[in-house]
Amino acid sequence: ERTEFVNYFHQIIDRFDMNLPEQISLRRELPKGQYYVWLDKDKMTQVLDNIISNAIKYSPEGGEIRLKVENKRYHLLVSIQDPGLGIAYDKLEKIFERFYRADKARTRKLGGTGLGLAISKELIEAHHGQVWAKSKEGKGTTVFFTLPLMNQKRRGI
Ligand code: ATP
Ligand code: MG
Repeated sequence: ERTEFVNYFHQIIDRFDMNLPEQISLRRELPKGQYYVWLDKDKMTQVLDNIISNAIKYSPEGGEIRLKVENKRYHLLVSIQDPGLGIAYDKLEKIFERFYRADKARTRKLGGTGLGLAISKELIEAHHGQVWAKSKEGKGTTVFFTLPLMNQKRRGI
């Protein structure tokens, strides 16, 4: 359904803010304006829940997670940046594969099936978006995705 993304994203972040590990804080860098996208809200909520949960889960030392939305004219660019463990360069492509979990020794105790990002990628692509990540081991990770913007304001009638 046609959804104003900034307000929707604030609501998602509010829900995380209510139940946050004490060493983690969330920083919002969201635009003031209204940006309409087509969303299957249940599915997009699943995507954001997984990406934000990963940012928290893989930042065991804590710190600030930045949640950003940028208007790129034809699409929105959403990014979630964490100060966590990071992912080695040669493993970065694999994190979107089913059942892949980087660095077994470190992540085993953090739990998970390795499905979250594979499902997120499918769901983002079903929204005609793309997803990718940048990371530096020991420094942190940023997950990016796009969503096509709908025709701006509906005038008249
Ligand atoms: P699930 O989400 O199914 O509970 P999971 O978190 O292990 O399990 P994914 O979300 O698909 O699975 O992530 C795959 C792997 O990518 C993770 O096991 C982890 O190794 C790595 N990863 C994902 N996000 C991050 C992140 N923000 N920082 C560091 N590593 C990450
Ligand atoms: Mg996950």
